[in-house]
This record gives sequence, structure tokens and C-alpha cells, in this order.
Amino acid sequence: MNRKLIAGNWKMNASLAGNTALVQAVLAGIGDAACDAAVCVPAPYLAQVQGLLAGSTLALGAQDVSSHEAGAYTGEVSAAMLREFGVRYAIVGHSERRQYHGEDDAVVAEKARQALAAGITPIVCVGETLAQRESGATEEVVKRQMAAVIHTNGHCISEIVVAYEPVWAIGTGKTASPEQAQQVHAVLRTQIKAATSQPGRVRILYGGSMNAANAAQLLAQPDIDGGLIGGASLKPADFLSIISAASNAA
Ligand code: PEP
Repeated sequence: MNRKLIAGNWKMNASLAGNTALVQAVLAGIGDAACDAAVCVPAPYLAQVQGLLAGSTLALGAQDVSSHEAGAYTGEVSAAMLREFGVRYAIVGHSERRQYHGEDDAVVAEKARQALAAGITPIVCVGETLAQRESGATEEVVKRQMAAVIHTNGHCISEIVVAYEPVWAIGTGKTASPEQAQQVHAVLRTQIKAATSQPGRVRILYGGSMNAANAAQLLAQPDIDGGLIGGASLKPADFLSIISAASNAA
């Protein structure tokens, strides 16, 4: 079984002083956790956080990556640039980027390809809206989102991390029940098994209001291999408590 992975997504919440305090508090409490952990930080702070994490077990992640390799793409950050700052993970296809920046399945798949080519593990987010869940389309939506990534990346998908993030649960305080999450994770697992000879390498994280109180139950599900954590990753005690739940579920 894979080690579980807990990845914090700070979103657009950071400052030089705040980052130092947050990372120092997490590092002070992380000890020798029996799971992998990472923080995905806004691009301008990559160098700072790379320095703060030096020599620690906490990995550095980015929140996005360009779908292009290099060139005239003003404002974009390439996978090669991220790699220069020691980035190990890059979130791609977060619902906030799909929703507010018009990223479609093809762009997300291309972003995953760029990350993989630079030796960065993409954390590919998939998930349904509330309307899609209520109309019974959850399975169809997540399978379509995954299929694009599989189509573009072929056998390389054994190197990705997937995050199932129901859109209605992100930042809302509403969490999918462990059973609801497990059901979708099992669907994704089956799809991944059909696409690669090494499906066991692919970790499927749950994201959507995971917190200190509900982490243990979610992480106890057989197909939940970790968490992508938004709000709770900004509170060191809560983030550490989720890391500890993942370590105990390992
Ligand atoms: C996220 O942004 O990926 C996320 C899961 O956010 P939250 O934990 O705040 O719901």
C-alpha cells in the first residue's frame, strides 16, 4: 500500500511573515510522520518556502503550471521553472481554475503532461458540482475528467496523483461522507486500473472541507490515499492533526 499523502493548498493566502510562521509551526510538530506531506504555495513564494523547507520531510508544491513548455505566454509559469525551485507536486485542474479561468479537460490534461515531463507529480483534481451530483451525473463527470488525462498521458499516468474534490464540498464546510467519497474513489480506481499496468502507484486523495474532526474517518476508507487540504492547511494545529490521522491510517 502507498504511503498516504497530505497536501496543503494555501490558495491565494500567504505573506512573507505569515509563511514563515506557518511553516515553522508545521515543521515543529511534524516529527517523523508516517505519511508524505506537502504544501502547495502561491508562485511568488516558492523560493522563500523552498528555503524554509530545506532539509525537512515536508515537500514543496505549486498550485498550477502552464500547459505550455516555454515562450510568449505572459504571466504563465512553466513546469521547468517550478522544477528549478525544488517543486515536487503541482495541482492541476483545481475546480477554482476550471470555474474562474475556463480551464477545460484538454488544458488540464496538457498541464499534467507538462508537469510529468519536468519530473513534477501533478495532483489532478476532478469532481462534480452540486447540480451534477443531484442529477446523478457524478460518475460520468469524474470519469470524463480522468479520461482526458489518461488519453493525453498514456502509461505515464502511473506517476500522477488524483484528487477527488466534489465542488460542492470545497471551502463550504460540507464534506462528502466517507461512503460518498469512497464510492467515487472506487470508480476512479477502476478507471486507473484499466489504464496502466502499475495502478498501485497512483494515490487518490480526497479534498473538500477535510479537517481535524473528519480526517480519520475519511482516511480509513480503502481507496482514500490521502487528502488535499484547503482551509485547514492554513492552521498549523489542524494541518498537523490531519497529518497525524494519515500516519495512523497508514
Ligand atoms: C481545496 O481547495 O482543494 C480544498 C479542498 O479546500 P477546502 O479544504 O477548504 O475545502
